[in-house]
Amino acid sequence: MIILKSRREIERMRVSGRMVAEILEGLRSLICPGITTFDLDQFALSETYKRKAKCAFLNYNNFPSSLCCSPNNQVVHGFPNKNPLKSGDILSLDFGVVYDGYYGDSAITVPVGAVSDIAKKLIAATEASLYAAIDKAVPGNRLGDISSAVQSFVESRGYSVVRDFVGHGIGKNLHEDPQIPNYGFPGKGVKLKSGMVLAIEPMINEKSHEVEVLEDNWTVITSDGGLSAHFEHTVAITENGPEILTRI
Ligand code: MG
Ligand code: MG
Repeated sequence: MIILKSRREIERMRVSGRMVAEILEGLRSLICPGITTFDLDQFALSETYKRKAKCAFLNYNNFPSSLCCSPNNQVVHGFPNKNPLKSGDILSLDFGVVYDGYYGDSAITVPVGAVSDIAKKLIAATEASLYAAIDKAVPGNRLGDISSAVQSFVESRGYSVVRDFVGHGIGKNLHEDPQIPNYGFPGKGVKLKSGMVLAIEPMINEKSHEVEVLEDNWTVITSDGGLSAHFEHTVAITENGPEILTRI
């Protein structure tokens, strides 16, 4: 069941969304060769506590950290560790908080130092596919319009869409209906309504769409070792169009 949010609830989600955006921007500014994802996780944790919020992912189904850190061929759900990042790496950061009962969820992929053109283009295409999808998040459209916007954008550039993980509704729960695949057909699926709040999150691979989960039961990697990028925003559908809640 898709839970529609009132105007007042969306106001509250704006607060948690802004916190996520502020903390992700803080993390982005810290990323450089030599820093560890453990350091980034500690920053996210302390910034969250400063705001009297809670980290959405810490202990979620026993996830051990506040921040998902997925470098290079990791797609999502990587654990922070004490290995220094190197110039040429790319790092996907997925972060969420809950504040005043409402969740915000967002992700970015950031280059570390000087990265290859292949990496730069993958990051740019993944981010642009998110905005192409957000443009479709208007009342009267269908869920498939969002999904197909991501797919057509990235596949026309030679990339592939991860099938095994999807976006989601969000509100008082981190994951609500509907599931939002990043592939599909325009005009198909549930009709979008004002009051829906969606976490739209393209996970895009440089090569094949196939992924595997490591033995830690969390870390998702590309099967062929190619790079992967991930961007996400929490977006409210309103009569005035899409409103990105996870922004400063
Ligand atoms: Mg997320
Ligand atoms: Mg999400």
